[in-house]
Amino acid sequence: MLLVPAILIASLLGGIGPGIFATILALPLTLYLIEPVAPHYAIVHLLLLGLIGLSIAIMGRSLTRALDNAKLTELDLRRREAHLRSILDNSPDAAVVFEANGTIVTFNAAAMRQFGYTQQEALGANVSMLLPASRQSDIDLNSQYGIDDWVRQGASRLVLGRRKNGTTFPMRLTVGEMAVEGDRYYTGFIQDLTDRQESEARLAEANNELARLARISELGEMASTLAHELNQPLSAITNYVEGCRRLLDGVDTRIAGRMRNALDESARQAMRAADIIRHQREFVARGETDKRPEDIRQLVEEAGALALIGSRQRGINRVFEFAPEAGSVMADRVQIQQVLVNLMRNAIEAMRDSERRLLLVRTILADKDRVMVEVRDSGPGLAPEIEEKLFQPFTTSKPGGMGIGLSIAKRIIEAHGGEIGFRPGENGGAVFHFSLAAADTEESERAG
Ligand code: ADP
Repeated sequence: MLLVPAILIASLLGGIGPGIFATILALPLTLYLIEPVAPHYAIVHLLLLGLIGLSIAIMGRSLTRALDNAKLTELDLRRREAHLRSILDNSPDAAVVFEANGTIVTFNAAAMRQFGYTQQEALGANVSMLLPASRQSDIDLNSQYGIDDWVRQGASRLVLGRRKNGTTFPMRLTVGEMAVEGDRYYTGFIQDLTDRQESEARLAEANNELARLARISELGEMASTLAHELNQPLSAITNYVEGCRRLLDGVDTRIAGRMRNALDESARQAMRAADIIRHQREFVARGETDKRPEDIRQLVEEAGALALIGSRQRGINRVFEFAPEAGSVMADRVQIQQVLVNLMRNAIEAMRDSERRLLLVRTILADKDRVMVEVRDSGPGLAPEIEEKLFQPFTTSKPGGMGIGLSIAKRIIEAHGGEIGFRPGENGGAVFHFSLAAADTEESERAG
C-alpha cells in the first residue's frame, strides 16, 4: 500500500509506460518488505500489487489523455475566439452583441469608433444607450415585443444612433438572434450612414445645380434659335410695311392718312420686336463663364458620378483613364460638368441596346497648353443624317429628345476657347472629344 501513491504519481505524470515501470520497480521492494513478515503470502502480495499497479497505470493513461484533450479543446476555443475577435474588430461595421435584457456582452472596434465608448464602458451597459432617448422605445427590451419584431423581419432598418457625446447619426441596423443553452442573445450590425448621406446630399446638390443650369441653357439656346428664326420674317414685315407706306405717299385722302399712321406704328413695333430679340440673343450669346483652374480628374469623376447614376444596373462598364501630366484646366466647373454629363449620358443612352457596354473617358495632354478629354462608347455610332448637322440645335434622333445638348456643349467649349468634335470609333461606337486650356501654362504666361 505504501508504494501505491508512487505508482499513481508516475502514471499521472507519464501515462501507462511509467506507471508499469513504477509497478515493476515496486515488486522487488515489496518482496523485500513482505518476505520477513509473511513469507507465505509474499506471492499473493506481489500479484495484488501487480494488478493494482496495472489498473492505476491504465487509469493514468485515460486521465492524461483526457487532460491532453481538454488542453487541445481549450487551445481550439482560444484560436476560434481570436479568429472571431479579429473578424469583429476588422469589420467596417459596428457589431454589438447583447443579452435579452439589453446587457452588452461584445462591442467591437468599429462600434468603439462609431459610438465613442471604450470597451470597458460599453460591456455590461445597456444597449439602449446607443439610441437617442426618443428612439429607445424602438427596441423595447422589456416588452420583448419590439426586438422580436425586428429579428423576425430580418431586414435592416434606418434609425438614429446616439454617440457618447450625445450627438446623433443615421445608421442602418440589422439585428440577428442566437440561443445558447436556453439564453437568448442578439447581435446588432450597425452601418454608419453619415458619410454616405453626406456624399449623396452633395451629389444631389450638384445634380440640382446642373439641372437648373441645363434648363437655363436650354431656354437660352431656344431663345437664341428663335431669335435667329424670327429675325427674317420680322425684317420682311418691316420691309413690306415700309413699301406699303411709300405706295400710300401719293394718295391724299383722309383714310390714306390714317393708314400711313397705322403702317408707321406697325413698322415701329416690328423693329421693336427685332430689337428685343437681338438683345435676347446677345445676352444668351455672352453666356459669361467664370473660369478658374480646376483639376480635370475631379471634374470628370464628379460628372461621371452624376451621369452614371443608375447606370450600373444597366450593365454599363465604365473606365476612366487620366493622363498624369494633364492636371488642371481653366474651366467654369459647372459648365464643363454639364458638357461631360451630356456626353456621358448620350453615350449611355446610345449603348442601351448594345451587347458590349463600355464607356471610356480619357484625359490626354494634347500639347503643352491643351488638355483633351475624350468620351468614347461602344454603341452603334452616329446616324449619318445626324452627323451632318451634329452640334446644331434641334438635331435629335430620340423621340423625347430636344437635340439641344450638343449645341450647348459646343457653345460652352467655344466660350472656353476650346474645340469640340466627333469621330467614329476605330472599333465602332462614337468618340466625342473637346479641348480646354491647361491651367498651369496659362497662369505662368500671365505671370510672365
Ligand atoms: P438629345 O440627346 O436631346 O437628342 P443632343 O444634342 O445631346 O440631344 O444629341 C443629338 C443627337 O446626337 C442625339 O439625338 C443622337 O442621335 C446623337 N448622339 C449624340 N451622342 C451620341 C452617341 N454617343 N452615340 C450615338 N449617337 C449620339
